[in-house]
Amino acid sequence: MPENAAVPRPAVKVSPRGASRLKNGHVWVYRSDIVSTAGATPGSVVTVTDHRGKPLGTAFYSSTSQIAIRLISQDAVADISSLLRQRIAEAVAYRELVIRDTDAYRIVFSEADALPGIIVDRYSDILSLQVLTQTVDSDHLRQVLISELSERLKPSSIVERVDPRVRELESLPPRDSGLILGDKTSTVVTMNGVQFHHDALEGQKTGAFLDQRENYAAIAQFAHGDALDAFCYQGGFALHLAPRCSSVTGVDSSRPALEAADRNAALNGREVEWIEANAFDLLKDYSVSDHHYDTIVLDPPAFAKTKRDLDAAMRGYKELNLRALKMLRPGGVLVSCSCSYHVSPTDLVEMLANAAQDAHRQVRLVELRGQAKDHPIVPGIPETSYLKCAILSVS
Ligand code: SAH
Repeated sequence: MPENAAVPRPAVKVSPRGASRLKNGHVWVYRSDIVSTAGATPGSVVTVTDHRGKPLGTAFYSSTSQIAIRLISQDAVADISSLLRQRIAEAVAYRELVIRDTDAYRIVFSEADALPGIIVDRYSDILSLQVLTQTVDSDHLRQVLISELSERLKPSSIVERVDPRVRELESLPPRDSGLILGDKTSTVVTMNGVQFHHDALEGQKTGAFLDQRENYAAIAQFAHGDALDAFCYQGGFALHLAPRCSSVTGVDSSRPALEAADRNAALNGREVEWIEANAFDLLKDYSVSDHHYDTIVLDPPAFAKTKRDLDAAMRGYKELNLRALKMLRPGGVLVSCSCSYHVSPTDLVEMLANAAQDAHRQVRLVELRGQAKDHPIVPGIPETSYLKCAILSVS
């Protein structure tokens, strides 16, 4: 193994706490654990050292993010481009192992694929790329990424989706979403036999919540009767419920999302009632006005974006779940999701226990699920595990 010192790179020195994080398998060092940054410029590839100067590996440096260091290797890396190419090959090989019944899935999930700052989703023959850090935003690394993705996966097109908030946090100049290869921007994808329109330049995230794909299939086994999909977006859960339920209602506050949901229902020849509303208000109204369901899905946006939001978030989750429990007929099914990393599986289950107590309902936890396998979980990086999906039977 070459000495780190063999590669002349700026050295970023980290505190003992930062160093022990890296030694325990994490890849982030926060700005508060940086001792010195000697010569590192925004987005530099740097050598990380402990406070005595001993090399700990090679990292991407951000001059503005609270996450100052994202380790890319515990070794000295002479050629970052070839490491990126190799990591992409590994990410693709992992998907070949775990992907079933879909042509829409995540191919690269940032730190979870040892490719910090890079997200790539595949929607049939269209790839959707997100660049999240100063280092990956360099022209050179973008070129490496695009050439490797196009040679390896031969997509019809590659689209970049820009999150302006991320670019602001990284002090990167504004940039528009758009095509970076080819000219195709829409297609149809299939998940578990259900079809979805995909407009590569529309919608939230890269267009779909692919992390829920395996949960769609899982809940379809238990769904029955009259179903309500709250926070339905473009109908991911609702359209998986439709073949098994006598009626399905989807609720979302986003009109464009519901318009897409309606096109998806037509594509699959399904009847779903779409309601544009604040789901909190609607559940409140419905729970006091004698509406009843046999299956309810709650998949709200992340309420706890930071640890500080946790208490308020848990109150929000409890309110929703309490109302849903009250509306379920005996023998009903509640699907309760949380995509906040800060809400642990234990927090979710405790909240459900409290809500069941308050609603005077007996519940059984049928399954406690997580994110689809194409969103890998790395044991040393707890933040890679973020999605929870509890399936409950309600007496
Ligand atoms: N279940 C969806 C993903 C839900 S993402 C799927 O599987 O595809 C969260 C959704 O909640 C978004 O579509 C967003 O538009 C919607 N949303 C956010 N706040 C809302 C509110 N107060 N009431 C209703 N919908 C809301």
